[in-house]
Amino acid sequence: MTAPLKILMLSTPVGPLGSGLGGGVELTLRTFAQELGRRGHCVHCVAPEGSMLDSGSLVTISGNWQTTAQSQGRETPITMPKDSVLAKMWDYGRQVQAQYDVLVNFAYDWLPFYLTPFFDRPIAHLVSMGSLNDALDLAVAQVAQQYPGSVAVYSRTQAETFAFPDQCTPLASGLDLSLYEFCAEPEDCLGWVGRIAPEKGLEDAIAAAQRTKLPLKVWGAMPDEDYWNQIRQTFPDAPVEYGGFLSTRDLQRGLRRCRALIMTPRWVEAFGIVAIEALACGVPVIAYRRGGPTEIIREGKTGWLVEPDRVEALVEAIARIDQLDRAACRAQAEAEYSLEALGDRVEAWLRATINNHAQRNEVRCKTLPE
Ligand code: UDP
Repeated sequence: MTAPLKILMLSTPVGPLGSGLGGGVELTLRTFAQELGRRGHCVHCVAPEGSMLDSGSLVTISGNWQTTAQSQGRETPITMPKDSVLAKMWDYGRQVQAQYDVLVNFAYDWLPFYLTPFFDRPIAHLVSMGSLNDALDLAVAQVAQQYPGSVAVYSRTQAETFAFPDQCTPLASGLDLSLYEFCAEPEDCLGWVGRIAPEKGLEDAIAAAQRTKLPLKVWGAMPDEDYWNQIRQTFPDAPVEYGGFLSTRDLQRGLRRCRALIMTPRWVEAFGIVAIEALACGVPVIAYRRGGPTEIIREGKTGWLVEPDRVEALVEAIARIDQLDRAACRAQAEAEYSLEALGDRVEAWLRATINNHAQRNEVRCKTLPE
């Protein structure tokens, strides 16, 4: 039997865990902590002040958040706010690293990649978005090359946005399926879930709701209220209802009653955890054929993939929702996205990171002069 691991997880620095500002990576961290803890590993987490976590122990650190990479251009230089929470979380990691077998980085930021060779302990990195910034790409590429197996992504399509797709380990994602209840008889409405931000293309889902006259229920964090107000002004008569940012338990209560989840990403969606949350409730997914959803949806069975950026294509697919099988949606979530299946992939990634790091150190010790 392999010994349990001591794991330190360092969260995203764009907001507290539980705020929704970090997007799907927040649920990913919580899911990893829950499943690795259940398997007997000792999991500790570090996250910005104000964070909440149900499983594993949590240390919170004050300081200013990092700006999200998706709101900046490819050539934007790396910047750090004063009193940076990212820098302070990694300084904490440096100080306590000897107590852990592995550190896990959830930040989509240059600093943890740059710092990797300066740490004694191995660092496993989860890259949570596709390629967005040239300086960050370079730092990730260097780590992927020097520390084989340590860089994980959600999906293959996401990996292909980088110049080194074969050096990335795709983990997909997984859920505590017991939190999501199957609903066989939906109401006559559609759902849309995610951060209300331009890269998520909410306006197209609203345009489709207006055309089909099917009410659209929207849930998610709203980092930029101006963007939301602008959409509402563009579609004043669309049947849209904003339900706020809810806990997983409350979110699935509303989501499971929808006839379909609509996903309208303008970018290469790294995964789209909301897609598997919908499937877990028996809700089929209609998505633009772009990024993670293309690897999740079983065309004609658990959803429809349509031509990106075409509202008309969404409308056509909405007319064909009844051809999709809600029981097959739940069955797919159970077969592919259980906590157990995810836990196996995560454990393999962490052990590969640790083993490769140990081997690298051995080689270095042998080649260094006495
Ligand atoms: N979410 C939530 N409550 C809400 C709406 C969304 O907890 O009311 C969570 C959802 O469960 C998912 C995340 O927000 O974990 C969105 O993640 P996704 O991977 O779809 O997109 P990202 O924001 O990472 O690009």
